[in-house]
Amino acid sequence: MGFIVAIDGPAGSGKGTITSKLSKKMNLNNIDTGAMYRCVTLEIIRNNIDLDDLEKVKEILDNINIELIKENGKQIVKLNGEDVSREIRENPVNNLVAKVSAIKEIRTKMVEMQRNMAVSQDIIMEGRDITTVVFPNADLKIYIDADVEERAKRRYLQNKSKNIECTYEEVLEDMKQRDEIDKNREVGALKLANDAIYIDTTNFTEEEVIKKIQKLIKKEKKLKKLEPKIYAERPDNRRKRIVRSIVKGSLKGLYKFFYRVEIIGEENKQKAGENGGYILCPNHINFIDAVAVVLFSKEKVRFIAKHDLGRIGILRWFEHLFDVIPIKRNTQDLEAMKRCLKALKNNEVLAIFPEGTRHGMEKNGKAKNGAAFMAIRTGKPVVPVGISGSFKLFSKVYINYGEPIDMSKYKIKGKEKEYQEQATKEIMDNIVMLTNINK
Ligand code: C5P
Repeated sequence: MGFIVAIDGPAGSGKGTITSKLSKKMNLNNIDTGAMYRCVTLEIIRNNIDLDDLEKVKEILDNINIELIKENGKQIVKLNGEDVSREIRENPVNNLVAKVSAIKEIRTKMVEMQRNMAVSQDIIMEGRDITTVVFPNADLKIYIDADVEERAKRRYLQNKSKNIECTYEEVLEDMKQRDEIDKNREVGALKLANDAIYIDTTNFTEEEVIKKIQKLIKKEKKLKKLEPKIYAERPDNRRKRIVRSIVKGSLKGLYKFFYRVEIIGEENKQKAGENGGYILCPNHINFIDAVAVVLFSKEKVRFIAKHDLGRIGILRWFEHLFDVIPIKRNTQDLEAMKRCLKALKNNEVLAIFPEGTRHGMEKNGKAKNGAAFMAIRTGKPVVPVGISGSFKLFSKVYINYGEPIDMSKYKIKGKEKEYQEQATKEIMDNIVMLTNINK
């Protein structure tokens, strides 16, 4: 899979033009998925197919050939070999395309075609469900938006420049209707993915938006190049263990100089470790709270940290030294999951912030189920950890380890998701309790 930029947004948000320009500037293949749904719509109109006649719709899908090609720098859309670039933008298609795109069988086929297009090339793909369904793990996910009146104005002017007959009112009405259908349909609805970057273009020029996205693409491309280094696993050999022990000792000395660290409940870790590995689940208030847990633990603690920390050379070096497991947030990072399960099976000690981010609880963020999932899966206990303190220089920092929680009671077949939620709640309740200590 190449480098993937996924862009979603409503009709007329400017994503089409922006994507097309970005594709040239950043050398990415542009895939306008709206054009694909428009081709299917045109084929349905031409063959006079009733949308309720699913057999006929499937027949169309089995025989359709859609090509998005570049000719003399222009994007050409071909339907069964015929150039339909203009026809797919005209009113008959405009009026029907949202209804056609709401049909599940059509979406399944289009998603499959879109994924195949991305094999072995770098792409920028725009549509409605690219960030959520087609490529939820894209390297960069962007949602482009604008007020509906502004979007209608833009589309009206665009149509005029292409000599496509229409009035502003018609365009506005069409857009409102399409928004309604696109956002509320059962499959592939247009929605903002929680890890997509939201850009409202209403008050920005096209150039400004392009520049902003260009910057984001450059940043992500750099990170992608670093990925093999970030994910590289360095064997825990003798040399590494010696360096780690020297670094740990020195940093611990420094830490003790700047903060008065008090450890409570150390015996709970020993209890948890009686039968091998376990998972530490602390709250996350400060960048250096994780550092304290690692430095002030006799045993080797492997933290799970967001993978983009590894883009900074020195942090990457520390991460390798302490065998931190990099994870891509908000996506299903199977590699990270595999590494965590392997570490637990090897009786190692893992540390995960269930809050996901700093001050997650205060931000009312939903705790993540990852720790619970792994504990239930491996049968390893969870040790909740309450970290408290102002983290002002020379102030006190409390690390309060709670009683190990046996997660086996949550191992109930068929109800995994529900029980993970309950297990996570138990972990979080304990963490909150452990942060409320008498100081
Ligand atoms: O992007 P464009 O406005 O050309 O898309 C036309 C229509 O195709 C949209 O209104 C939407 O109903 C549908 N579409 C979709 N999913 C996509 C892209 C477009 O449902 N990924």
